[in-house]
Amino acid sequence: MTLKVTVLGATGSYPSPDGACSGYLVEGAGTRLWLDAGSGTFANLQRHCPDLGALDGVILSHAHPDHWADVLGYQVVLRHIFKRQGVPAFGPPDLLLMLEAIHGPPGPELDWTTVSDGLTATVGGLGLRFSRTDHQGETYAVRIDADGTSLGYSADTGTGWGLSALGPGLDLALCEATLPPEEAGSIPHLTAAEAGRTAREAGARRLVLTHFQPGVDRERARALGSEAFGAPVEVATEGACYEVGS
Ligand SMILES: [Zn+2]
Ligand SMILES: [Zn+2]
Repeated sequence: MTLKVTVLGATGSYPSPDGACSGYLVEGAGTRLWLDAGSGTFANLQRHCPDLGALDGVILSHAHPDHWADVLGYQVVLRHIFKRQGVPAFGPPDLLLMLEAIHGPPGPELDWTTVSDGLTATVGGLGLRFSRTDHQGETYAVRIDADGTSLGYSADTGTGWGLSALGPGLDLALCEATLPPEEAGSIPHLTAAEAGRTAREAGARRLVLTHFQPGVDRERARALGSEAFGAPVEVATEGACYEVGS
């Protein structure tokens, strides 16, 4: 079983001139999930999943807009164009309040589940397990399993949380590396070295760094992350695909 992750956006906090905010298309076991919906990712999603009716669910890690702003357009598509109902959606309680303030209750288009620490769920053939991270507001990392192959996504976090909270045997860790080393600990985010360290401690087989603030030197992040991880790491770029599993 394989899991495929396509990067729809890898910029943190706000979009860069040529980059979307956080978002990924996760495919496995015949199921497609939109994992975080930062600004710019809805446009990129349609390059990789042109049939929006083939999307099986949406996961929104937290209420910072660089992770969910584009779901507003998706709601419009579901409600007024596709007239589709019951698409599984997962997110924290404060985000539900924001969505309700803009579009009203997310149903019936979205079948909303309010996430809590330790929540497990399935969407199609994919198993989900959420873990609350060390970040402002309720923020949830998620482990996604496809019949023995696993992805761990850190969402946003400081060093008070680690990827090991998602359990052992991660085939691919997708971990934020927001900060340059000079700003370590200044706000609840990770540097590339901290991301490498938490992935190594979790025993992840492969590490992709992501959520870079505009202007951060990604090649420097690659070097620092690789040193801490103990093996070469990858640096997420828009359109990149990572496949793991047999
Ligand atoms: Zn963010
Ligand atoms: Zn955040």
